[in-house]
Amino acid sequence: MKSAMIPYGRQDISESDIQAVVDVLHSDFLTQGPAVPTFEKRVAEYCGAEHAVAVNSATSALHLACLTLGAGSGDVVWTTPVTFVASANCALYCGATIDFVDIDSRSYNMSVERLAEKLAQAKKIGKLPKVVIPVHLCGQPCDMKAIHELSKQYGFKIIEDASHAIGGKYCGEFIGNCRYSDITVFSFHPVKIITTGEGGMALTNDPKLAKRMQLLRSHGITRDAEEMTHAPDGSWYYQQIDLGFNYRMTDMQAALGLSQMQRLNEFVAKRHSTAKRYDQLLASLPVVTPWQHADSYSGLHLYVVRLKLGESSKAHRQVFEALRAAGIGVNLHYIPVYRHPYYESLGFKPRNWPEAEQYYAEAISLPMYPNLTEEQQVKVCETLCQSIKN
Ligand SMILES: *Cc1c(COP(=O)(O)O)cnc(C)c1O
Repeated sequence: MKSAMIPYGRQDISESDIQAVVDVLHSDFLTQGPAVPTFEKRVAEYCGAEHAVAVNSATSALHLACLTLGAGSGDVVWTTPVTFVASANCALYCGATIDFVDIDSRSYNMSVERLAEKLAQAKKIGKLPKVVIPVHLCGQPCDMKAIHELSKQYGFKIIEDASHAIGGKYCGEFIGNCRYSDITVFSFHPVKIITTGEGGMALTNDPKLAKRMQLLRSHGITRDAEEMTHAPDGSWYYQQIDLGFNYRMTDMQAALGLSQMQRLNEFVAKRHSTAKRYDQLLASLPVVTPWQHADSYSGLHLYVVRLKLGESSKAHRQVFEALRAAGIGVNLHYIPVYRHPYYESLGFKPRNWPEAEQYYAEAISLPMYPNLTEEQQVKVCETLCQSIKN
């Protein structure tokens, strides 16, 4: 089957991935069986983190992470405006307020300079953030060493939203080891680097944080006598000791994730060859291709180009629509979060984030996934060229 549109992203499912899910369907447990802890252990070991808590989405993982780090009413959480809404919504779920730190003009990640300035101002008025959520946009890690230094100086917690970044490296080590953060979150949505259909995971090196996230993932219920207020009434007994949720991952999902882990390195390597080919094919066009930090190995979830608007007679929107009309499923990652009506109603004004605004006026995500063919890439680049020049 051949679909007309080349999508911006798509999953790669092998026969052994399918078999892994079928095996679970034939087994005793569709959920709360052995596959989830096996998947958690595999990802934790791969990344070099002590603990991993699998959940039904990265959104749930971000929510649990915020709660576990104590974000609540009266607290402030900061993230980048150029991200999926979930990176900001998680703070609001907890009753905290959210604010945004403008992006860096080269990496499109949260700017460390803007963060430092904003922290200094916040300190003066006594409104320092409780949690900061840097997002590794497109898979490129943020400047975590610098952000970690600032966290020590100003006393905030760090959640890495690494939804785009599993399989990538920062300073030679896999993203997810939480060396410079309290918790790291991955997404396993089908467009991301590996998939479980829907799914997410929170990694940490702190056993207390892991335990609390495990508890909140399943209603706040414990079967561990040590955690109960009194000795169990009998062998049926459990206690709800906190207000949690049903954020569990199923065994079908975990089995798929475990099977996908076998090809994670290959997926990321293929994304790198795709990016290299794009870099070459686009070299003569008036676009800015993605900058890669020398200390990082990006997961390359996305390949974002920025139009050099001054060098083309075509508007951003015209180029975008022409690509779509030609069957290229380009996208824009992301509409700055503060621009959504829900956030506007909270009082956010675009003028406070000039770099994010500039980015939004120029960015286009080209198709990027492991099985994108060279032929398709040539088509994408030729269409882009025509749509800019004609
Ligand atoms: C996809 C994504 C999420 C949410 O992931 P889900 O697993 O779909 O909940 C959060 N943050 C970022 C940056 C994402 O790209």
